[in-house]
Amino acid sequence: MSRMGTVLLVGAGPGAADLMTVRAVKALQAAGAVLYDALIDPEILELAPRACLRIQTGKRAGKASLNQDAINRLMLKLARRGLDVVRLKGGDPSIFGRSGEERAFLEAHGVPIHIVPGVTAASAAAAQFGFPLTHRGEARRVTFATARTQDGALAEEGWTGLADPETTAVFYMGRDTAQALARRLMDAGRAPSTPALAVENAGRSDARLVSTDLGGLGRAVMGAGFEGPVLLVVGEAARQARWPSVSSSASQWSDQDWPALRAR
Ligand code: SAH
Repeated sequence: MSRMGTVLLVGAGPGAADLMTVRAVKALQAAGAVLYDALIDPEILELAPRACLRIQTGKRAGKASLNQDAINRLMLKLARRGLDVVRLKGGDPSIFGRSGEERAFLEAHGVPIHIVPGVTAASAAAAQFGFPLTHRGEARRVTFATARTQDGALAEEGWTGLADPETTAVFYMGRDTAQALARRLMDAGRAPSTPALAVENAGRSDARLVSTDLGGLGRAVMGAGFEGPVLLVVGEAARQARWPSVSSSASQWSDQDWPALRAR
């Protein structure tokens, strides 16, 4: 029997290859097989060896996505064949990345597994648009949240902590429910005047920022016509967001673009 391969759950960061960790790049360069999500940039996949098997697991351009069970079984099969498998995920694998489920499955089948962290979308958005996630005296807590339940509906419970005025609430997977989500936060007591942002394609050269307040967030997100992944940020710290003025991957924007994209 051939040796058992290992599985590495690797965070690819928000999209730009230079926001990957050195460890993530090395893992990819040594991979025998790569299973990657829909949001992974082709530029990043090019880091894998030519002979490496490349398998897309997320849906894109009409291709169906593999369900979690199929992904788990595929990783197991490849590792049993002796391949070192890189399971490449957007951002950080431990944040809405199902790393817990995949680890449990692989460990139960005796497959050695390691996790390589990545830059999560919230960190990429904060860096690119110059706002902090915490701020002394204003934002003592930051919560990475999703408003969606497993069946895609908006969660009923758990809004009180997010309504705390000293919390920066960052919502993943919130684009299509922004309006309802903002309403729930306000119902839970968060002020409509709280600064709010929607950031599309954070960390990439085609990133977009919409700056508004909680009361205007739903309308702003609907009006923006976003097609890429979108992060919603609600809290006082978001007031500091600004269009990048110095060199960054978003530097091709001029200051003139900025007022047009503001939603207020
Ligand atoms: N593990 C990822 C999150 C996966 S959940 C991470 O740590 O970033 C998928 C959601 O993440 C998307 O619906 C979107 O809300 C957010 N997201 C991922 N990449 C993004 C990006 N480049 N810009 C904005 N939001 C992003």
